[in-house]
Amino acid sequence: MRQPLVMGNWKMNGRRSMVEGLLKAIMADIGDLFGVEVVVCPPYPYLGLVMDRLAANSTVVCGAQDVSAYTDGAYTGDVSAEMARDVGCRFAIIGHSERRTLFRETDAIVAQKFARSLAADLTPVLCVGETAAERDAGRTQEVVLRQLSAVFKECGSNAFDRAVVAYEPVWAIGTGRAASPAEAQTVHRFIRDVVARQSAEAAGRLRILYGGSVKAQNARDLFEQDDIDGGLIGGASLAGADFVGICRAACIG
Ligand code: PEP
Repeated sequence: MRQPLVMGNWKMNGRRSMVEGLLKAIMADIGDLFGVEVVVCPPYPYLGLVMDRLAANSTVVCGAQDVSAYTDGAYTGDVSAEMARDVGCRFAIIGHSERRTLFRETDAIVAQKFARSLAADLTPVLCVGETAAERDAGRTQEVVLRQLSAVFKECGSNAFDRAVVAYEPVWAIGTGRAASPAEAQTVHRFIRDVVARQSAEAAGRLRILYGGSVKAQNARDLFEQDDIDGGLIGGASLAGADFVGICRAACIG
């Protein structure tokens, strides 16, 4: 049995007051949530504040939105996986489509970041997914396979033993147009099958999240699919009630 996981990616949003308000709203509502692991990924400058406010409540933990491909050193502006772990992060989002597109992260760079996260004892959450053009050309599985293979190449056949994968079709991110549950399930199954070629045990344990326009209203139908183990949430993670609604939809209790 895989424990459902719901992660909120706040992206580059927030100020101290907004962070305080959002956390307060989440904490007020989330108390009795059973069986779901909940992670919030604030911008780096607010990690300390978030950790501070979360300290009394172990239901929610912190993740980093990205980490450097390098270990500590002369890399101005970067934050290492070791640093993120040192300040208390437990997860790191790796290869988000915004990083791949806007910051030109190649599959090889993403794989290095994945490796750095594992080495720092952070759980990498590898984002994979096709663009609208790739989907229309029938290339979804080819793209996802390429993204997974880069990580296997860098980290070896047990790469996903301690990791999470997030299937995030690029055309669904921030568009209000989520993949249908059946559509998402097909790709999730494919991802699990690809990992199973290396290790059936790791594939069975691997949590595969869906991301892309998940709302409280569509979350349950998505999460009920056999191979969808939770969600990576962007826009809806910025409103406490919406985010907790999604977490409740993932509830197994
Ligand atoms: C994301 O950016 O990872 C994401 C899933 O965004 P949204 O939920 O807003 O589509």
